[in-house]
Amino acid sequence: LPTEFVQALPVLRTITQAGFEAYFVGGSVRDALLGKQIHDVDIATSAYPAEIKQIFRRTVDTGIKHGTVTVLQQDLAYEVTTFRTESGYQDFRRPDHVTFVRSLREDLKRRDFTINALALQHDGTIIDLFAGLTDLENKVIRAVGDPNERFHEDALRMMRAVRFESQLGFSIEPVTATAIQTHHQLLSKIAIERIHDEFVKLMLGKARIAGLTSFIQTELYSQCPDFETAAPALTAIAQLPATALTDEAAVWLLLVQQLQLDVEQVKTFLRHWKSANELLQAVSCSLPLLQKMLAQQPLHNWDFYQAGLTNVLTANQIATLYGAGTSVATLTTRYQRLPLKKRSELVVNGGDLLKALKLKPGPKLGQLLAALEQAVVAGDISNEKTALLAAAAELNNA
Ligand code: ATP
Ligand code: MG
Repeated sequence: LPTEFVQALPVLRTITQAGFEAYFVGGSVRDALLGKQIHDVDIATSAYPAEIKQIFRRTVDTGIKHGTVTVLQQDLAYEVTTFRTESGYQDFRRPDHVTFVRSLREDLKRRDFTINALALQHDGTIIDLFAGLTDLENKVIRAVGDPNERFHEDALRMMRAVRFESQLGFSIEPVTATAIQTHHQLLSKIAIERIHDEFVKLMLGKARIAGLTSFIQTELYSQCPDFETAAPALTAIAQLPATALTDEAAVWLLLVQQLQLDVEQVKTFLRHWKSANELLQAVSCSLPLLQKMLAQQPLHNWDFYQAGLTNVLTANQIATLYGAGTSVATLTTRYQRLPLKKRSELVVNGGDLLKALKLKPGPKLGQLLAALEQAVVAGDISNEKTALLAAAAELNNA
């Protein structure tokens, strides 16, 4: 058992000793069997939330309505969720209404894919009611039960399928894939934020090309914001080298570049995808850099200064996919050698200029400071008080 499970064993034992069943379930069991690093250990139990709260001293009501209680044990937190079935799926989304049950089978049956429907007992025994182990071995993503029904119940599962395809490097079993194709339009019922999360995970996965290809072929893409006519661009992206992307900014930069959006369109596009403002910032800042790199134009110190190293490296990551990248070391060194990294490092400030040049506060002052900043960044003037004041006096008299 991986250490994460070993650490959590006392929680399972305590529940079992109280006369209930408890298992590790979901992604952590799948990832452990694949030998991958596991994150958040989920526990499923036959005990009802009120019973869990009686058994443990320190608990938090994380999602009582859904049966989830967080158990705090030696500085660690475990989500313990009562076995449940979900009923009354309305609007093709996960239902708000759940029914607690005492049967593990019922709980595993409502899970999306066979590889996600494995349970692990305290003694290491795996409970595999839907042949998830065989699918894990054959690297197959297969819906639990009838895929048509399952995607009808919750359309997000279709995005999860292509996401896992990319993350795990598995393939989607043909009947499941056909059902996605058939029901792709149901994705329009799902909140954009949730589609966004799955799409980003797909794009960051090691098998991005496979996941993206399914995303295109099943027509899921057509239900995503501003992707109605994006098939050619997405197909072109699927033909680029398979190098994994490291972060979300790179994902969106790649998309907006291939979609040939300008900076204004980028903002609208990312807002439609419900992206955070920091992402908007990062992508609109790195797009002009990427375009320079692709056009083989030299980057100036000012480009590095304005964008910051992170955005430069994001642009470089995408430029590399198009065969126009530079080494990370070269770019990093170049950034580190900038005479100035931010305005506050300029050794003169507004007050100094006012005094030395006997100026009045006003727009002129801002212009002078900006000119000094640019000249220092470009390496035309050194960042020293006398040099800067002399240059400012000259500019002021010009
Ligand atoms: P990740 O590595 O991204 O956390 P995960 O499989 O753990 O992958 P979660 O969203 O954390 O995904 O969900 C935990 C488990 O809950 C899944 O393994 C699956 O059994 C079940 N599950 C999650 N979302 C759905 C869904 N939309 N429909 C059915 N079962 C789901
Ligand atoms: Mg998880």
